[in-house]
Amino acid sequence: MQHSLQSDVIVVGSGPGGATVARELARAGKKVLLLERGQDHRPRSYYGTYLGALLYSDRGSLLFTEEGLNIIRPLMVGGATSMYCGCAAPPPTWFKAKYGVDINTEVSETIEELEIEALPVELRGKASTHIAQAAQALGYNWEPQLKFMKPARAEKFDCGAKCMLGCRCHAKWSAAEYVDQAVAAGCDLRTGARVDRVKIEAGHIVGVEGDLNGEPFTARAGNVILSAGGIGTPRILQASDSSLLQGAGDGMTMDITVMVYGTITGLGNGKEPPMTWSWENPEEGYMLSTLIDPWLLYPLINSLKGLRYALTWPRWKNTLGVMIKLKDDVSGGVFSNGRISKPMTDRDRPRMRGAEEVSRRILIEAGANPETIFTTPLRGTHPSGTVRVGTLVDENLQTEIQGLYVCDASVFPEALARPTVLTIIGLSKRLAKHILQH
Ligand SMILES: Cc1cc2nc3c(=O)[nH]c(=O)nc-3n(C[C@H](O)[C@H](O)[C@H](O)COP(=O)(O)OP(=O)(O)OC[C@H]3O[C@@H](n4cnc5c(N)ncnc54)[C@H](O)[C@@H]3O)c2cc1C
Repeated sequence: MQHSLQSDVIVVGSGPGGATVARELARAGKKVLLLERGQDHRPRSYYGTYLGALLYSDRGSLLFTEEGLNIIRPLMVGGATSMYCGCAAPPPTWFKAKYGVDINTEVSETIEELEIEALPVELRGKASTHIAQAAQALGYNWEPQLKFMKPARAEKFDCGAKCMLGCRCHAKWSAAEYVDQAVAAGCDLRTGARVDRVKIEAGHIVGVEGDLNGEPFTARAGNVILSAGGIGTPRILQASDSSLLQGAGDGMTMDITVMVYGTITGLGNGKEPPMTWSWENPEEGYMLSTLIDPWLLYPLINSLKGLRYALTWPRWKNTLGVMIKLKDDVSGGVFSNGRISKPMTDRDRPRMRGAEEVSRRILIEAGANPETIFTTPLRGTHPSGTVRVGTLVDENLQTEIQGLYVCDASVFPEALARPTVLTIIGLSKRLAKHILQH
């Protein structure tokens, strides 16, 4: 049976991009249909466990680029904020200066609304603070990291590396809360709704089509906002019948990430909230922070580098971890045959090596045994830059198809090399205002 739905606005994907714009438009009285391919796993007993992470991330967290970079891609209500570290960072200044995208008002509103701030000093973790102090002693100005986290919301604040599997103590905000608020304002949320392509008539968007819990469906609306994330959105555009949308997925940014680990007796940041301190190096284009993989993922990820690294597992509790996020060049892409490629460029490699050297010096200053220091395999948690502002969408996030917008990490024109979510929320609030005015 073919389902047929109708709305003023269709939003595809319920991560921070889709959830925010759906909430804003529903609250303003628009009839909004929010289509999410995943389910709402929050009420399930496995939410926030290793089993859960297998169930709700793409290919059980075993999604790799053809170069072997591991991508974590949660597919559920709330999108990747279901498994994020809860860090917040204002948009980079170049977004406004270079691309004319000014979201400062919307970002300030969000900081106030969600009470975004650093964790109090006593909750930042002894080992994490020790790493930050070692970095400061070397002249790197590490600062407390802003968080989408309110310990007071938790009955018992119980945050550690495991929170990347999903927050069970309720301290961390996720975009699923905006989805709840959108639904409370009248938004029609459909889960298990995978959009395959957009439908265009006479140069104007008319709707989408795809699969709704195993049955084909179509939905019609005068405005469609694609927020299916840095991988999902270009795939929908590639499958759609318009030459104006070709080029989606050609090139990608990822904020390529590694962790540098070192062992020290009696101290480790695995049981502490992730990323409580951080530092940016804008000249070289990278960010450092305090982070270590959750206990069970540690040997799995390190086995990709070699057995001897996986066998450092018993030292997990006594490991200090520094995370590197690189401002990687636009390279590779997401292709219509399912291929994902993200090669490091000749500019990326020496900058990553420089960041590794700085991390190593910090760990040694913190007292880690130099013999134990190693870097984890490459991974990516910020697939982005696949439908870039200035290339496929204008500064109002509209494609060349009237009424078809993209609002998610895909639109970043360059790698952010910093937490993305606050920027995405700012973009979504601004897009909602734009749609309401036109
Ligand atoms: C482990 C991890 C830690 C992170 N930590 C941080 C952090 O601390 N701070 C920060 O700012 N960022 C962090 N990030 C990154 C951040 O979560 C993402 O960049 C952000 O959520 C991207 O938002 P989005 O709206 O672009 O897409 P997503 O959050 O990816 O949401 C896209 C949604 O669309 C749905 N979808 C996909 N395809 C379709 C389709 N065809 N039809 C219907 N629905 C579809 C997906 O199921 C998903 O729910 C982290 C990410 C990970 C994985």
